[in-house]
Amino acid sequence: MPLFSYHCTDCDIEFEALLIGADAPICPQCGSIELDQLLSRVAPEPRVPEPVGACSSCAQYGGCAAGRA
Ligand SMILES: [Zn+2]
Repeated sequence: MPLFSYHCTDCDIEFEALLIGADAPICPQCGSIELDQLLSRVAPEPRVPEPVGACSSCAQYGGCAAGRA
């Protein structure tokens, strides 16, 4: 099922529309066709930031005195 998310630039709402055939989506609130298509919400992957420069011995982020040469 081709379900897409749109943002109406006229009344600033977001909605989902099911496109069938060549139908163009319209805003359900104001009927505008000035829409931005949003990215699909399917399987968003949470990004876990890698600790950068963490000291392996004391786990202090950004390094510590013992970790410096
Ligand atoms: Zn609208």
